[in-house]
Amino acid sequence: MLILTCPCCNIAADETELLPGGQAHITRHGPGSDDADFETYLFMRENPKGVHFERWRHSMGCGKWFHAARCTATLEVFATYSAQTFGPPQHVIDAIKSRRPDWQGPV
Ligand SMILES: [Zn+2]
Repeated sequence: MLILTCPCCNIAADETELLPGGQAHITRHGPGSDDADFETYLFMRENPKGVHFERWRHSMGCGKWFHAARCTATLEVFATYSAQTFGPPQHVIDAIKSRRPDWQGPV
């Protein structure tokens, strides 16, 4: 079972208390962007076997969105962190590299 600690209320919640929100750190383009940018925003998602950054909502708790870095193959959770970031914070990257030295970093 997947257990994530909500960084907003510090409660370890299992997956029945959470709502998945898909891939984290998706670039949203504003007015004036072209169709290719909009297509990428709507449809193009990573689907790695390994380290992945995801959005989750603590739907049965505080209700807030947060991000999680986890392995999709083993369900190992490296860190959870605020959704108010444009990319994974350095402490999250350090936590991943300490357990996965071969990891190449976020794309
Ligand atoms: Zn929470």
